[in-house]
Amino acid sequence: MDKKKVILLRYGEIFLKGKNRNLFEKRLIENIKKVLVGIEYKFIRTQNRYYIEDYQEYMQEEIIQRVTKVFGLHSLSIATKILTSYDNLKEAIVEYMPQDGTFRVTTKRADKRLDKNSMQISAMLGGYLLAQNKKLSVDLYYPKCEICVDIRENGYSYIFADKIDCAQGMPVGTAGRGMLLLSGGFDSPVAGYRMARRGMEIFGVHYHSYPHTSELARQKVIDLAGKLTKYCGDVRLFVVKFTDIQQAIHEYCREDYMITIMRRIMVEIAEKLALKHHCGALITGESLAQVASQTTRSITVTNEAVKSLPVFRPLIGMDKYEIMDTAEKIDTYAISELPYEDCCTVFLPKNPVIKPDLEIAKKEQAKIVDLDKMIEEAIESVEDLIIKAEY
Ligand code: ATP
Ligand code: MG
Repeated sequence: MDKKKVILLRYGEIFLKGKNRNLFEKRLIENIKKVLVGIEYKFIRTQNRYYIEDYQEYMQEEIIQRVTKVFGLHSLSIATKILTSYDNLKEAIVEYMPQDGTFRVTTKRADKRLDKNSMQISAMLGGYLLAQNKKLSVDLYYPKCEICVDIRENGYSYIFADKIDCAQGMPVGTAGRGMLLLSGGFDSPVAGYRMARRGMEIFGVHYHSYPHTSELARQKVIDLAGKLTKYCGDVRLFVVKFTDIQQAIHEYCREDYMITIMRRIMVEIAEKLALKHHCGALITGESLAQVASQTTRSITVTNEAVKSLPVFRPLIGMDKYEIMDTAEKIDTYAISELPYEDCCTVFLPKNPVIKPDLEIAKKEQAKIVDLDKMIEEAIESVEDLIIKAEY
């Protein structure tokens, strides 16, 4: 019997209703093909599933590693593909036979040339397995193991049992583009991941205060963006030199308002870059009450510096532990943990305000001589990097 292993991909159903279906599917397929770059395979699209076939067997694990990170896919199964005949089905299903316990066979028959209907085929195959293994029994309602048999119109059948979860969410690129304020910490990479999972393409902006912050701190952020690419595809990263502005804040503003003002200027620059590069939103890793600059009042005062775009804060209601768990899962944890100084920690005030006042913040900020010019310069001299996807 001619049989081979294939990978069956299922996508979420929610987004496949209505007019956008084609757009979503087209993007999803593109994204799957992107992550499979460098691998030989055949991609087959049927009405509600995709199959990856004709790959070299030793690449199977690698393919699974990659496609489970593609947002928009729900789950996958490794299936056996055979030419449809009752004998072939019996021979191939034995591989999926559990050692003991309850099971059921579920058949979907699209091939109407067969003389048995799907129920009859399930019963035939179930009976065949029962005869092979006395420790098995059938339970149609709560089986320990469900073996699925998909008999297609084209003369081929697929048999599979276990499902492997994929990344869920929406295909990246179907929900516009967001500008992620990416620091070297734990939170902002997770925030980027969460928004990419809702379909956003991710651009990043990072502020550094060289020479107060080191080259290592900059590399850390590039490495974090690199980890994100496994989920988001290429990430365009803008690195902004923030040294002069930070020094000016230090020189002209009240010490307890330094962080507040720094954050206001960061989002102002981020918004300008975002508008220039067609991003529809800013994204930050803020989480309510995590630090002084993330109280409701602090966020209000920071937010006021953003003029037209929404600021997405996907972590706002998450605990640090949940954020860390996700960081672990997306493999950014070990990088975020590295101890290099972030620009936020340079010139850190002893007692930052917890409840800043907007008017005071604006007044203090207005004391900075030539701020607009410095902002313009920072934007003009921005380093524009493309972090290529690593698979
Ligand atoms: P993170 O772990 O992401 O660094 P944090 O807990 O250190 O966050 P803050 O330093 O208050 O919190 O920063 C809040 C958010 O502001 C970050 O999640 C990030 O989106 C943005 N941000 C902070 N520092 C920088 C930076 N140097 N460059 C770009 N964005 C930054
Ligand atoms: Mg930080």
